[in-house]
Amino acid sequence: MSQTNDNKCFLCKGKCCSYTTEALGTMRSKSDFEHLLWQVAHEGVEAYKDDSGWYLLYTGTCQFLQPDGLCGIYETRPQICRDYENDWCEYDEPASKHFIYHFRDYNELLDYCRKRFKRWDK
Ligand code: SF4
Ligand code: SF4
Repeated sequence: MSQTNDNKCFLCKGKCCSYTTEALGTMRSKSDFEHLLWQVAHEGVEAYKDDSGWYLLYTGTCQFLQPDGLCGIYETRPQICRDYENDWCEYDEPASKHFIYHFRDYNELLDYCRKRFKRWDK
């Protein structure tokens, strides 16, 4: 995540500052997915899988994103924000384009679980 004072970030208004993610590790067993179901049942919590694995996705804008789309703590912003380059970023291509699966809520994930585990409801 980055927030520089250039024209691109100003036009974008902070797409990369509107969520956070957390790696989930290996997702294999029925109990792994039962736990994930509990998590995505909560408002603002989603899950996705891409080429590098499974992730929780928390929707919610960073408290430091200003109405003009710039970072309110730019000089002291977290390292992950510093590492995110804006030469090719979500303004150019949404990260979701690379999602293999994306579960926005409980019911979407439950449908997947029932297909993945034939005895899910047994
Ligand atoms: S998504 Fe790209 S253009 Fe938008 S605020 Fe983040 S770094 Fe800037
Ligand atoms: S600290 Fe600044 S750059 Fe980082 S997510 Fe928040 S608003 Fe964006």
